[in-house]
Amino acid sequence: MRSSEGLALALADEDDGAIMIFQWCNKRFGEIIGHEPADVIGQRGTILIGPDMEQGTHLLVIDKLMNWERFSVKTVNNRKNGEQYWVEMNWTPLSDPNTGSRWWLCSLMEFEPQSLPTVSYDGRKANKPDQALLAKYSNEIVRLEKENRRLHSLAKVVAKESNEDPLTGLANRRNFEVSLKGWVSGLRKGGSSFAVIYVDLDRFKAVNDTLGHDAGDKLLISVADILRRISGKGDLIARLGGDEFVLLKPLDHSALSISSLADDIIRETRKPFTYEGKSISCTASVGVAIADAKMVNPEQVVADADSALYHAKTHGRARWSFFTSEMHAESIATKQLATELLLACDRKEFIPYFQPIIDANTGEISSAEVLVRWVHPERGLIPPAEFLNVAAKMGILHRIDEIVFSTLPIALMRLDNTGIKLPKIAINVSAGRLEDPSFLHDIRSSGIDPSRIVLEILESVYLERMSNTVHWALSEFRDLGMTIAVDDFGTGHASVQGLLKIRPSILKIDRQFLFPIVDDEDARALLTSLIGIGQSLGMTIVGEGIETEEHAHLAMELGCDRLQGFYFGRPMSVESLQRQLLATKAKFWQPPHELTMSKLAIGS
Ligand code: C2E
Ligand code: MG
Ligand code: MG
Repeated sequence: MRSSEGLALALADEDDGAIMIFQWCNKRFGEIIGHEPADVIGQRGTILIGPDMEQGTHLLVIDKLMNWERFSVKTVNNRKNGEQYWVEMNWTPLSDPNTGSRWWLCSLMEFEPQSLPTVSYDGRKANKPDQALLAKYSNEIVRLEKENRRLHSLAKVVAKESNEDPLTGLANRRNFEVSLKGWVSGLRKGGSSFAVIYVDLDRFKAVNDTLGHDAGDKLLISVADILRRISGKGDLIARLGGDEFVLLKPLDHSALSISSLADDIIRETRKPFTYEGKSISCTASVGVAIADAKMVNPEQVVADADSALYHAKTHGRARWSFFTSEMHAESIATKQLATELLLACDRKEFIPYFQPIIDANTGEISSAEVLVRWVHPERGLIPPAEFLNVAAKMGILHRIDEIVFSTLPIALMRLDNTGIKLPKIAINVSAGRLEDPSFLHDIRSSGIDPSRIVLEILESVYLERMSNTVHWALSEFRDLGMTIAVDDFGTGHASVQGLLKIRPSILKIDRQFLFPIVDDEDARALLTSLIGIGQSLGMTIVGEGIETEEHAHLAMELGCDRLQGFYFGRPMSVESLQRQLLATKAKFWQPPHELTMSKLAIGS
C-alpha cells in the first residue's frame, strides 16, 4: 500500500456543494485517480465517481456534499483506465470569509480492501455511522480529526497561494472572478451596490522596454502600494495581469467617494517614481462602472468598466471616465468593427490613396503621401479615422500597413508610365510594422527604389517604442537610402533630445498648428517656433492641412519648405493622381514669387 495522501481543492457552487470544479491537486491525487494532475484542474467533482462505486456510497457522497457536511467514506472506486482501487475519501468544507466563496478539500488515501468497514445507505437519509463500529475505529477517528485539522491549515496556505498575485500580494485574477461573483450575488439578494474601478498604466510597455523588467516590476509593486494606501477597508484590490489592476468598492456613501478615489489614483500614479536614481513618470488611466442588480452576468460590469477605460485612454490618457450607456452602444459597435476588420485583412480590402506634397519653392509635386482607405463591401470607402484606433488596439495595424505596402509597386508603375516621375512616396508606418523584421524584407523584394521611400513615423511611436529593435530598424532603413520623417510634430511630447535620437530629415507639422494661422497672431508665433526647432536641426519642414491660398502663402513665409493640404489636392485614387500628374505636368501650384515675377514681366 502506498501511504501518501492525494489532496485536491475544488471551488464549489455556493448554493449546491455537490457542484464543484477542481482548482488544484497534488501529484499523488492524480496518481490515485489515474489522471495527470494538470488534467484534473478544471474538471468536475464527478470524475471521482467510478462505475464500481456502490450506489449507496455514491448517494451518501452526494448528500453530504450538497449539504456542506464534512465526512469521510471508504469505498471501492475506479481509476481513469477502469482499474479498481480501494480508497478512503475525506471531504472538508471550507469557506473564505473575505469573498464568501466555498471550497472543498478532498483527501484520498488508498488502502488494502480487508480493512473496509461496510457503508450502507438508507434511502435519502444520510448514513449514520454504527456506534460499535465507531468505538472500534475511535483511534482511527481521532487520527482522522487530527489529520483533517492539518489538512485544513494546509488548505489555507494553498488557497492563499492560488488566490494571490505573487508579485504584488494583491488578489489575482481567479480570486477577483470568484469575489466578483460573490459581490454580484450579494447585490442580487438586496445587498449594497458597488463600483468596479479598472486601472491600466499608460506606456507601461515603454518602461519595460527601455529600463528592463526589473524596473517594470518595481513600478507595478509601487502602484499596488498606492492602491492599497488609498482604498477603503472593505475594498477588494486585484492585479489581473500585466499592468491591469481592478478595485471593487462598495457604494456605501455616495458616488462622490468613487470619483474622489478615481481622482486620487490618477494623481498619485502621476507622481514620478524613482528607480536606481532615475525618475520615471508613468501615468494611469481609469474606467469606472457601477454594478446593477439587473445585470445579465457579473462579467458585464467589468466589460463596462473596460469600455470606460478605453474611453479614458482614447481621450488623452491619465484621466478617468464613468461608463455611460453611449459607451455601451459604442462597445457593441467596436466589437462588430473588430470582427469586420479581421475579415477585411483576410480579404485584403485595403487600398492606398495618394495626397500630393508640394515643394513650396517650385510648386512642383515632391512626393505623395500614401493614406489607407478601406473598401468596405457594404459601406463603401471608409477613412482611416474610423478604424485605425480599433485596429491598433487589436494589434493588427501592421497587417493593414503590410497589405497597403504590397499594392504600391503596381501603383507606382502605373504612375511612372505617365512619363512624369513622382519623386517620392511617403508611407505611414505603425510601431508594430517598424519592429516587424519582414518589413525590411518586403521593401527589398518590392522592387521600389528605397531612395524613393519616405517613412512617416508618429512622435508617439518613437517616444513609446524607442527600443533597440526600432533603433536598429531605423538605421537599416537609412542605410538603404530611405528618408525618415516625423509625422504630426507638436501633438506628442517630443523633446529635442528625442528628435536627435532618430535624426529625421523631415519634420511634418500637424495641421492643428497651421489651421489658425490666418486669423491668429499667437498661432503664427507658435508655428514659427516649431519651425525654428526643425530648422535648427537642419530638417526639411512640411506644413500639413493647407486649405486655402492664403494658408499656403503664410506657411511658406513662415518657413515651410513643403506644403500638403486640400488646397493642392485631397487624398485620391491612383487613377486620379495619374490624371492630375498628366494635366499639371507635376506642377500643382504657382508660388507667390513666380506670380510676382510674371506680373513684373507683364508690367515691363
Ligand atoms: P497623417 O499621416 O497626418 O495624414 C494626413 C491626414 O490629414 C490625412 O487624413 C489627410 O486626409 C488629412 N488632410 C490632409 N490635408 C488636409 C487639409 O487640408 N485639411 C484637413 N482637414 N485634413 C487634411 P486621413 O487620410 O484620414 O488619415 C488620417 C491619419 O491616419 C493619418 O494622418 C495617419 O496618421 C493615419 N494613416 C493613414 N493611412 C495610414 C496607413 O496606411 N498606415 C498607418 N499606420 N497610418 C495611416
Ligand atoms: Mg502621415
Ligand atoms: Mg500628419
